[in-house]
Amino acid sequence: MSGGDKLDFEIRPNPAPVSAADRAALLANPGFGRVFTDHMVTIRYADGKGWYDARVEARAPIPMDPAAAVLHYAQEIFEGLKAYRGADGSVTLFRPDANALRFADSARRLAMPELSTETFVESLRRLVEIDREWIPEDEDSSLYLRPFMFASEVFLGVRPANEYLYCVIASPAGAYFASGVKPVTVWVSPDYTRAAPGGTGAAKCGGNYAASLAAQAEAIEAGCDQVVFLDAVERRFVDELGGMNVFFVYDDDTLVTPPLTGTILPGITRDAILTLAAESGHRVEERPVSFADWQADAASGRLREVFACGTAAVITPIGGVRFPDGEFLIGGGEPGRSTMALRQRLSDIQRGRADDRHGWVQRVL
Ligand SMILES: *Cc1c(COP(=O)(O)O)cnc(C)c1O
Repeated sequence: MSGGDKLDFEIRPNPAPVSAADRAALLANPGFGRVFTDHMVTIRYADGKGWYDARVEARAPIPMDPAAAVLHYAQEIFEGLKAYRGADGSVTLFRPDANALRFADSARRLAMPELSTETFVESLRRLVEIDREWIPEDEDSSLYLRPFMFASEVFLGVRPANEYLYCVIASPAGAYFASGVKPVTVWVSPDYTRAAPGGTGAAKCGGNYAASLAAQAEAIEAGCDQVVFLDAVERRFVDELGGMNVFFVYDDDTLVTPPLTGTILPGITRDAILTLAAESGHRVEERPVSFADWQADAASGRLREVFACGTAAVITPIGGVRFPDGEFLIGGGEPGRSTMALRQRLSDIQRGRADDRHGWVQRVL
C-alpha cells in the first residue's frame, strides 16, 4: 500500500486570501491552534487507484457524508511539526522525515494506506511555500503544521475503509508560555489508563486523545495542568502525559525516560533529547520508572528534575505532582538546570541559532 506515489500537486491559490493588515493583526497574538492560514493540502486515496488528486487549495470546510467511516469508527491519524523562519528569510522544518516515518507507522497500525516520505514532506513544503507570509517572525513563534488522514468512505460496515483523505493545515503559533517558562503540576490518574500492550499507544491517532480527555478533565478538576498516565497492566510504571513524553533527572546527572514498549508515543522531541543529553555529559537511560520510586526519590532529593516534552511546548518543567492520597513538589517547584539547558539547546538548533550536527534541520524554502 506504500511507495510509488509520485504526485503532481495542482495549485489553486485562494481567490480571497486574508488581507495583509488582517494577517498582521492575527499574527500579533495567534495563541495556539485558533488562527489558520489561507490554504490547505488535500490528497485522495482509493483502493485500486492509489493516491490521486493532490492539491494546494483554499482552506475550506470538507463536505462529508454522515456515514463517512471516520465519524463512526475513528480511523484517523495525525502529525504535528513546526516551520521556522530564519533571519535570512529561509524556512526550515525539524526532522520532517521522522514525522513522515511515524505517520506511516501510525497508518499501518490503523490499517490505513501509507504515504511515501517524499510525498509527505513535499506536501508540507507546498503549503509552507504558498502560506509563507503566515510564518510569524518573532523569536519564539512558528507555523504549526498539522498533517492528518481519515477514512472518508461512506460505509457503516466494520473493516478498514477503502477511501481516505490526507490533508495538511497550518496554524501560526505564538510563544507557548507567554510569560516565560512556567512549571506545570501533573495529576496521576488513579482510574484511567491511556494505552494497553497491543493497543494503539504508539500510534498518533485521534482515538488516543479521545480516550485521554476524561482523565485530563479529572486533572483540571484536581487543580492540575496535565494528566500523567501509569501503565495499564500493573498501574505502577509511568508511561507519559496525554500528549507529551516524560523525563526524570537525578542528582548524579542521570537522565531517565520510560522505554518504547508499544504503549508510549515515540516522540521526536524525546529522541532528540536523548541524543543532546548524552552529548552534554548526562548518563542516559531508557528504563521503567515506578510511581513509588518517583515519590521516594523526590522525597529524598535524589530526583532533581522532571520535565515533559513534545513539539508544541518543546520542554515543560514539571514542578508538582498530585494524586488522590497527596501531593509533592519537584525541585521546590522551580525549573531545573538540566531542563532549562536542554530546552535552550534544542530550541537553538531548531531555530538555526546553533550548529546542527545531526542534520536535523531541513531547509524547505
Ligand atoms: C505527539 C505526541 C508526543 C510528542 O511527540 P513529538 O514528536 O515530540 O511532538 C508525545 N506523546 C503523545 C501521546 C503524542 O501524541
